[in-house]
Amino acid sequence: MFKEENVFNQRLTLNLPLGIELYVKREDLLHREISGNKFRKLKYNISEAQQLGYKQLLTFGGAYSNHIAAVAAAGRILGIETIGVIRGDELVNCYRENPTLLKAEQDGMRFKFVSRSVYRERTNAEFIASLATEFGSFYLVPEGGTNALAIKGTEEILKNDDQVFDYVCCAIGTGGTIAGLINSSFDNQVVLGFPALKGDFLSTEIKKYTVKENWQLVHDYHFGGYGKVPAELVDFLQDLHMTTGVLFDPIYNGKMVYGVLDMIQQGVFKEGSRILLIHTGGLQGWNDIIKGK
Ligand SMILES: *Cc1c(COP(=O)(O)O)cnc(C)c1O
Repeated sequence: MFKEENVFNQRLTLNLPLGIELYVKREDLLHREISGNKFRKLKYNISEAQQLGYKQLLTFGGAYSNHIAAVAAAGRILGIETIGVIRGDELVNCYRENPTLLKAEQDGMRFKFVSRSVYRERTNAEFIASLATEFGSFYLVPEGGTNALAIKGTEEILKNDDQVFDYVCCAIGTGGTIAGLINSSFDNQVVLGFPALKGDFLSTEIKKYTVKENWQLVHDYHFGGYGKVPAELVDFLQDLHMTTGVLFDPIYNGKMVYGVLDMIQQGVFKEGSRILLIHTGGLQGWNDIIKGK
């Protein structure tokens, strides 16, 4: 179901200063429907659920969540029931206007829409027990899919050949992807993470799952916060698509790429640096932008 052989490192032929070389790991090609890093994070969770004999997966997410889309598609493909607890009870009558939720429903996901205050209880044991009473027993995948088994999956992104890179860069939501990259990084490398949202809780999350210290967060390129996509960013990504043939999503990867190119222009990277960008997928994020989210 998961095509490792589709993934390769593509050089971005841009006119960069200081002999800097930029490559993209095309994890977006891992699966046609399931966004790259979401697949990595689900892989070992789903095999655990199957080994434990669960027939249902339950997870949490917002209306535009790539994770919700990924769980629903994986469930359909593997024949596992899926339940999505969705933030925002106002969506109950209009969720089909949202492309992510419509597709998830077509993939067989059942929804429970909850208010923002109920959603905040998503890690509370009593609330989870009440969901089991309502839906029957399920394997719980946390919001964003990040847990120890997810990181076992994201540790498989970097390969031995990738040791030639001095920097590995990725976008961050919950921190599960960067945690795996850090664990599998080589000692000569620095891992740079670009949070797609505001806030400083991320370092603590990442430290829960990692022991190395060869990483840094770059907080300057969230463009106003999660899901904020100014016209300047859209134009930049469309131009980059034209010149390189690679399309990045506007919610996560687009902000990271913008940031890396800006930092290259500012001289942050030393002469001759080889930089690897991890394209985590998420291209369905464009659907919501085009619909005028
Ligand atoms: C979810 C997502 C991320 C964030 O990954 P985390 O492991 O939560 O940090 C990055 N890129 C895309 C395309 C995503 O869908």
